[in-house]
This record gives sequence, structure tokens and C-alpha cells, in this order.
Amino acid sequence: MAARSLNVLREQARGCRNCPLWARATQTVFGEGAAHAAILLVGEQPGDQEDRQGRPFVGPAGHLLETALARAGIDRRQTYVTNAVKHFKWVAADQLRRPRSAAESAGRKQQAKGHAVPGEGRGKRRIHQKPSTTEVRACQPWLLAEIEAVGPRVIVCLGATAAQSLLGGGFRVTQGRGQPLPSPYGAPIVATVHPASILRGAPDEREAALARFVGDLRAAADLAGAPSVRSSGPLDRRPAIRPARPEGEAGPTSGAKTTRVDEDRKRRPGVASRPDRRPAIKRTANGNGRLARRALP
Ligand code: SF4
Repeated sequence: MAARSLNVLREQARGCRNCPLWARATQTVFGEGAAHAAILLVGEQPGDQEDRQGRPFVGPAGHLLETALARAGIDRRQTYVTNAVKHFKWVAADQLRRPRSAAESAGRKQQAKGHAVPGEGRGKRRIHQKPSTTEVRACQPWLLAEIEAVGPRVIVCLGATAAQSLLGGGFRVTQGRGQPLPSPYGAPIVATVHPASILRGAPDEREAALARFVGDLRAAADLAGAPSVRSSGPLDRRPAIRPARPEGEAGPTSGAKTTRVDEDRKRRPGVASRPDRRPAIKRTANGNGRLARRALP
């Protein structure tokens, strides 16, 4: 059921035009992974490789994430991986220099408004651009719909954009990383850094940064294996970025009935509950780092 829902969402997201980012990207990069994953990881947005291949976390940051997950004893195939924003926001490397002519300057203004310019980006290096708050807000219904469909036991926010999408603009990863944070999304959140930030860091600090990242992922795995953990407590809050109502038929909430998350909010505002209908995960006894599924009591 949930897998079909994800497929429907994926198909709908292909035609999303809820913000200007679709115009300059190759395709929508929707989440992928286990339909009932206990751990759902959220990044910022697709990068260059993800945009070309149409899959999340397949570039250098994705490879580092996979390494870190393995070190934390998590099989990536048992997780669901997605991004807060589903289209690649970028600028051509040569756009970062001063424009050489009025025509070039005008073209850049068109691009800044989200309009595609014929031939742009071909054969040029594309530099990642951080999505704006408006773009994150426009894309949030897709993320919430994925969380609703997967029903994870823990949500891992990779980096500030993902964390702020779900925890509000005032949240700082540096203050709350690695801690289980109550959320209204039916599962606690663990916020940590984006693996790309480790790659960007000083080479002699990378191993320590990776070790800390692995520690955060391990904390999330422990949380996902603890059936008594539920999202509740003083940090419960609604997202500061309110889900925008998608325009047209492409939006995941267009014409939608009340969702399970909405029901949870009504029943116990700020405290999410979720039927224990899915298998949870725990570490295997042989300590080989793999996670094994088990039925909830
Ligand atoms: S809202 Fe998301 S999926 Fe829709 S166009 Fe913007 S980035 Fe793409």
C-alpha cells in the first residue's frame, strides 16, 4: 500500500511546477529506498550527479553517506533517502564571474527568475546553490507526503536545510545534533551534518568529522530499534515553515483528505503517535553491523 503510494507520489512529483527550480533542472529527484524503512534520511537537494541520474545521494556526498551508514551498522538498502527539495538548484561556474556584456547580464537576470536559457549549462560545471526558504516551503508537501507514506521510526535530517524544513528556521544543527528531537511527524528527528560538509572540510579534520557523523547515525539506529521511543516532550513544535498548498494537480496535498499526521496533530497537538504496524529494526546478535528486522510486540 505504502509502496504504491510512494510510486504515485513519485509520478505526481515528475510534473511539479510549484516553484521555479524545475525549469533549470534535468528532472525531479524523488526519494528512494525501503517502502517501510525504519530510518528516513533527508538531505538538502539533489546535486549535479543526482540531477543527471534522477536518484538521490549518488554523487560524492552519497558515497560518503553510504560509508558512514555502513560504519554505523546501517544497511542503506533498509533506509529511505530523500531531499527537502526535489530539483537541483545550480549556477554555471562561469556565472560566478562578472558579466562581459549587457546581453549576458540580461540572461543572468532571466536565470535568476528561474527561466531556462537555451544552451545554458551545456558542457559547463554546475555549482550547487542553496535553496531559498520559499523553495524549501514550496517543496515541503512532497517531503511530508514521503514521511507519511514510509512511516519511519526515526527521521535523520542531514544538514541545516533539511532540519529547518522540519524543525523550523530557528533550529541550529550545532545545538541539537545527534539528539533525539520530538517532532509532529510521527517519529523523532535526529539532526546531523550533511555529508557534503565533511567533504568540504579541511582534509586533516575529515576523519574526525566522519567519526562524529557516524556517531550521530548510530544514535539514530539505536533510536529506530527502541520501540518505546516516541516523539513527545517539550521540544514538540509545528514546523516554522508551514507547508504551502501546492498549485494545480501536481501537489501531493491537492484534494487530499486528512492525513495520518494531521490526525495525530488533532488528537495530541505536537505529540505524534503511529500505529505499530511495521517491523522495527535492531542490531543483530553477531555484531556484524547489519540491522535485522523484527516484529514489534
Ligand atoms: S516544489 Fe519541489 S518538486 Fe516542485 S518544482 Fe519546486 S523543487 Fe521541484
